[in-house]
Amino acid sequence: MVKIPSTSFEQVDPESTLQLILKSAVQALGGISGVVAVWSEEDRCFVTGASYGLPESGLERLKPLLKEAAPGLAGGQEGYDLVSELLPDQELPATFSGTRLDPVIALPLKIMEKTIGLIFVLRPVAAGTFSGMDRPVLAAFAEQAAIALQNARLAALLAEEKLRVESVLEHSAEGIMSIDSSCRILGFNTAMEKLTGYSREEVMGLKCSTLFCLSDPDRKNLCMVQCPMGSGSGEKARSFQQTGTIRTRENRLVEVAFTYSIVHSPEGRPVNAVVNVRDISKIKEMENFRDIILSMLGHELQTPLAIIQGYTDTLSRPDAQWDPATIQQGLQVIGEEGHRLSQVMNKLLLASRLSGGAVKLEKEPVYLSSLAGKVVRRLSTVASIHQFVLEFPEEFPFVSVEPNLMEQVLTNLIENAVKYSPRGGKISISGVIVSGKVKVTVADEGVGISLGDRDHLFERFYRGEKAQSKFQGTGLGLFICKAIVEAHGGIMEASSQPARGSQFSFTLPAGE
Ligand code: ADP
Repeated sequence: MVKIPSTSFEQVDPESTLQLILKSAVQALGGISGVVAVWSEEDRCFVTGASYGLPESGLERLKPLLKEAAPGLAGGQEGYDLVSELLPDQELPATFSGTRLDPVIALPLKIMEKTIGLIFVLRPVAAGTFSGMDRPVLAAFAEQAAIALQNARLAALLAEEKLRVESVLEHSAEGIMSIDSSCRILGFNTAMEKLTGYSREEVMGLKCSTLFCLSDPDRKNLCMVQCPMGSGSGEKARSFQQTGTIRTRENRLVEVAFTYSIVHSPEGRPVNAVVNVRDISKIKEMENFRDIILSMLGHELQTPLAIIQGYTDTLSRPDAQWDPATIQQGLQVIGEEGHRLSQVMNKLLLASRLSGGAVKLEKEPVYLSSLAGKVVRRLSTVASIHQFVLEFPEEFPFVSVEPNLMEQVLTNLIENAVKYSPRGGKISISGVIVSGKVKVTVADEGVGISLGDRDHLFERFYRGEKAQSKFQGTGLGLFICKAIVEAHGGIMEASSQPARGSQFSFTLPAGE
């Protein structure tokens, strides 16, 4: 639960304060008992707020008196009022000892001209009636009682509001914690528990700066340098925001935005703050994605488009006469670049289909050796410096797959093998049976994969360091391969010896 930092209103005990004032009033006026009646908005009448010297039964009998006498008393502006005079027929309550009480002096408790209660002091009949001299004495107590009552009401309102706010914060979908001026955690909501992996009990009283180590991309602890509570930067600001990375209980890094709403002391020092913690990793991921897609589209689409545009403009110039060979060559380039464009678009569409999990497989028995042969025949026409070798055992089992998608996997892997072996060399496509499963490996003798790239190869839009600077691509080929293989219940793997080539394998259940 997020606790709103306490204020002094919690220390107000309205009943005992009223009780004390009433007792003092009764004693000062030589009374024997007294009652403070409080106006109830809900019941639209006065109800007993505190009583002194009256038994339960006396209070019961006072209730109708309060109901009826109240409007007259509350309206009484001048002097003091005697209940027995206002309501001559009313039977008045008795004290513990059974003494009949009359006369009664009563005054309204007023706050800004509004009657919020009444104070009654009662004397035994034998003690004589009250006089005008008694009024200022009771008025002083009435004033104190009115203030006490008003404070109690405000306190109740604040407590109610506090509970309401605490409940809103508790059930907020965003992480919220409250901290004191030393950044010690005072409150921690459920969303915060989910986000950080820490339970409320674990973190209470700990310093959020050391617990979460909010850091920037250079691993600098931002809490140490610009926390609005510690560094003094919060002295003027009422709210403050910083973004960075926090470490969860499971040692996971999460990108977050901390928004501090700071409460200041009258001297302007930050005393505590409610910190709203928002997980922005998804937003950051989307931003990264957007940048990657834009730069990829910029490169992969703009280049062929510019070439197509250039050739089209040139060939269609009305002032030029082109010989048939030049026209033929221009049309061929336009065709090739158009093909390249459509390949990029197909990859994008397929990747988005696969990411959404919206692929419905239409499986049929496929012999991967034949499919690999088909892909090699097609690609060998454009890869003259490579030697393709197909190595499949004769009795290689078929697999139950969607042929078009599996052809896409083999095409992506073999095209990569060609692309990342710019000096040529052998490209082998081999099949083996491992533990009753079919394993196909595409191996090349190209540039290999650096250690830093290995863990990310199959991520969407990931492009290796060398690839980015030297080779064209979308970073979607391997992502697509993995998604297709996994959709068929298989696994995808990569291995490499730097500068000596790479191997990409996929394993699929053998068809029955
Ligand atoms: P790209 O369009 O960049 O080729 P892929 O998803 O097909 O995208 O491959 C992702 C990255 O994996 C490439 O950028 C490259 O760094 C690396 N890679 C893929 N195949 C090979 C290979 N045969 N040899 C070396 N690196 C490869």
